[in-house]
Amino acid sequence: MFKINDNFLALNQSYLFSQVAQKISAYKAANPGVEIIRMGIGDVTRPLAPAVIEALHKAVDEQASTDTFCGYGPEQGHTFLTEAISANDYKARGIDISPDEIFVSDGAKSDTGNIGDILSLANRVALTDPVYPVYMDTNVMSGRITSGNVELLPCTAENSFVPALPVSNPDMIYLCYPNNPTGTTLTRSQLKEWVDYARRHGALILFDSAYEAFITDDDVPHSIYEIDGAKEVAIEFRSFSKTAGFTGLRCAYTVIPKELKGEDSTGNLVALNGLWHRRQSTKFNGASYLSQRAAQATYSEEGKAQVKSTIGYYHRNAKVLKDGLEKAGLTVYGGVNAPYIWVKTPSGIDSWSFFDTLLTQCNIACTPGVGFGKAGEGYVRLTAFGSYEDCLKAVQRLSLLKI
Ligand code: PLP
Repeated sequence: MFKINDNFLALNQSYLFSQVAQKISAYKAANPGVEIIRMGIGDVTRPLAPAVIEALHKAVDEQASTDTFCGYGPEQGHTFLTEAISANDYKARGIDISPDEIFVSDGAKSDTGNIGDILSLANRVALTDPVYPVYMDTNVMSGRITSGNVELLPCTAENSFVPALPVSNPDMIYLCYPNNPTGTTLTRSQLKEWVDYARRHGALILFDSAYEAFITDDDVPHSIYEIDGAKEVAIEFRSFSKTAGFTGLRCAYTVIPKELKGEDSTGNLVALNGLWHRRQSTKFNGASYLSQRAAQATYSEEGKAQVKSTIGYYHRNAKVLKDGLEKAGLTVYGGVNAPYIWVKTPSGIDSWSFFDTLLTQCNIACTPGVGFGKAGEGYVRLTAFGSYEDCLKAVQRLSLLKI
């Protein structure tokens, strides 16, 4: 009989969102007619920017003519997009990242999940806790993380959600800032400590900045490459999902600077850029032409303004929610440089109990923090991705909360 990949059996069964959905359904069945405000799942709700829609229509029309039809593109992305990314997201910020250091894909989930292909299974891993589950699960699937041989770096109110530097000398460190789920950030000097650590220890930082567009504070870096020396130690992941509402359309990119090198098993230095190029060319046939044209449109003058306005809409939601939660007597974090608000549960109750309280007293659905890791116990996550009207309604309901 053929064998399966046993590593998949070692995965923690993730019941988080299905458990949330079940609880909501059960509550609705018991309380017909009740309207639940869903603030749990981190998906965007606003429509795509008009400039993006226009680019999509044009790209569709191009497919109707043999003169403009586009089949397979370069696996690493069309140059019209990699050049726009290089110019707008990097050179405009004084960071020298060239188009051939940018790899376009269908999502940061795929990229953060697949990057392990080009890294040794012997590497030790460090992850923040709570954490976006993809980093952990994909390392378990590959067999790199087995029986808990991973260093978890707790991020709680006690350390202001700034993880302490690792103690186990990990080779791969996943950082996500602005953070999902806590909505917190690292300042430039805090991120520099990580870059300096990685340089001293020969570690690789896998920097997920899927929420970069939500940064408002000047002191928070938009890219890890704003930090001197980061090009030698960091890969950066970005996505159009939360930036421009592409969760359904799909487009993202990963930056691998040419300076970034790791050791092979005989101690020779090898550039990761070439390895990822090879990996993508072999296992990936490129993001769709349509989504790449759509992504390009986010960099036009109108596109930029429209995308910014949608981010502003979510920021306003976050502020309304944050203020409302605080008024209700709760302690909250995040929500300023991120679409996520991380709420401390009152009187030390656990995440699931507070989930139930919010559901039954306010008819608001959140995500229990413990679902993102042990250090998330005692917190819940609310998202600002819903409608403004729902946020106002949620705040009204929160005023009735008895804690
Ligand atoms: N990285 C983080 C931290 C996320 O929260 C998400 C989505 O929720 C992703 C990556 C996935 O992004 P994409 O839609 O580009 O796959």
